[in-house]
Amino acid sequence: MPRGELFILSAPSGSGKTTLIRNVLEGGRYAVGDLRFSVSHTTRPPRGVERDGEDYWFVDRERFHGMIAAGEFLEWAQVHDNFYGTSRAEVVPHLEAGVDVLMDIDVQGAERVMAEHPEAHSVFVMPPSFAVLRERLHGRGLDQREEIARRLAVSLSEIRCYERYEYAIVNREVDEASRALAAIVKAARHRVRRLREEVDAVVDLFAREIPQARAVVAPK
Ligand code: 5GP
Repeated sequence: MPRGELFILSAPSGSGKTTLIRNVLEGGRYAVGDLRFSVSHTTRPPRGVERDGEDYWFVDRERFHGMIAAGEFLEWAQVHDNFYGTSRAEVVPHLEAGVDVLMDIDVQGAERVMAEHPEAHSVFVMPPSFAVLRERLHGRGLDQREEIARRLAVSLSEIRCYERYEYAIVNREVDEASRALAAIVKAARHRVRRLREEVDAVVDLFAREIPQARAVVAPK
């Protein structure tokens, strides 16, 4: 069985990335099927309707640092004064079982994962403008004013990192952007590297059939 494909998605906070991710996962409007979301650990408190084990694993700093010490993280980073990390358990066993995994991580974490998994597919999601980003952050009403100001302040340095990624999506319109993300996942599933076993099996069939075929076509 081929290994699963790993997808890294990064975007400044408020780019609409969470909606795009929901749209391509199971039950979403542009679901690609058999794609697992890697649930990160964070020390940030839950926002709105976020649920433990679905959006994040919400843990305190002590537990988070214990996990760092135990080497449980594939990567971790401090983002906007909180800690975020992807545990190996959320990713590695699933890839080994042939399941595709999608990670939502910041630019620092993405760099680390790209170094360890150069075969990963990386996607950067951009807001169409600063005004739209500001409007979305205020509009969703999830963060305090200072938190929004902090997120906006780092957005430029995050956006400038887009060149490290393989794909970029400018999220002007959510359906169009979701279709683009689904297309990237589907295209990755057709890489020869991924399909080698399946294609080799077809080639073997040809190799087995061709001598007989010759006998039929050229009996004289
Ligand atoms: P938020 O607090 O808005 O959910 O996320 C803030 C930032 O943390 C986003 O850029 C998000 O991609 C990033 N993030 C979420 N989970 C992880 C993770 O496991 N590792 C890293 N490095 N960043 C993460």
